[in-house]
Amino acid sequence: MKYVFGPLSSKRLGQSLGVDLLPPKSCTWNCLYCQLGKTKKFATDMQEFFPREEILGEIREALALNKGIDWITFVGSGETMLYKGIGWLIAEVKKLTTTPVAVITNGSLLFMPEVREELLQADAVLPSLNAGSEALHRQIGRPAEGLTFRQHIEGLVAFRKEYKGRLWIEVMLLGGINDSDEALRDLASVLKEINPDMVHIVLPTRPAPEQEVHLPSQERIERAIATLSEVTTVVNPLKGHMDLRNAPDMLEAVTAIISRHPVQQRELHKAIADCFPGESDTVDDTMQEMLATGRFKLVEHNGEPYWVIGDGAGWPQQ
Ligand code: SF4
Repeated sequence: MKYVFGPLSSKRLGQSLGVDLLPPKSCTWNCLYCQLGKTKKFATDMQEFFPREEILGEIREALALNKGIDWITFVGSGETMLYKGIGWLIAEVKKLTTTPVAVITNGSLLFMPEVREELLQADAVLPSLNAGSEALHRQIGRPAEGLTFRQHIEGLVAFRKEYKGRLWIEVMLLGGINDSDEALRDLASVLKEINPDMVHIVLPTRPAPEQEVHLPSQERIERAIATLSEVTTVVNPLKGHMDLRNAPDMLEAVTAIISRHPVQQRELHKAIADCFPGESDTVDDTMQEMLATGRFKLVEHNGEPYWVIGDGAGWPQQ
């Protein structure tokens, strides 16, 4: 499939079918922790990159193949709200199924009323907020020219007032960057202004090709939870896992997932083992065959091997 990938499992969204509406990489930001590599050319104008009917057709097909999906999640190769027509797609998906729809976005375009309007039918929206000050926002997100921190916050505040669904803000906590007491206090202060339903703290557990990013210490994670909990409900999500059991073509399904983010080798091994219970030789052979295709390569992050896409995003050779 070209647009639909997964299902992936996470504590936040359970079993989630991903829908990617963008050509890689299309983004308004150039986050230093981005798993897709450097934003070579910023995109800031909404476009219908691919025909909406074609995307809807794939979602229909994927829903017929995968039962027990908890969420359909628009997320992918950049900033989701750059896809013009996402509101139409959300409305059409809701005619197909009662499965709720989530949108993962960096939130940078929410200052525009027409962008906020596109999201009103989503059941959950998960925008990013990694900083409580202009300086840190610029350091982490490195946004396109003209996109300011204040505009980002004002977009989130306006969206909260108009949107009746679940607003779950994602905070990427980076060791040594936004985990100081001061940075956390600034974040809490803007979160109070925004008033989300919840905050999900996410960690840089996967490698980023452009720059080494570090996990915060346990003490800093606990401090972040304590500080942000003073203004909203905070969730420190457990890591999810992949489910390949219903994939019609395992290699294609794995390629679709890894082209969107690196996958820990252990996690991939478990997902393949779930497809071949008790057949450890088959699991090892399948992984070897996948590597032999040249589509993937191995990189190390925090002492763990990860699979990344073979030709993309400037990953270092091992
Ligand atoms: S992490 Fe998300 S918002 Fe940041 S540059 Fe990558 S795709 Fe864009």
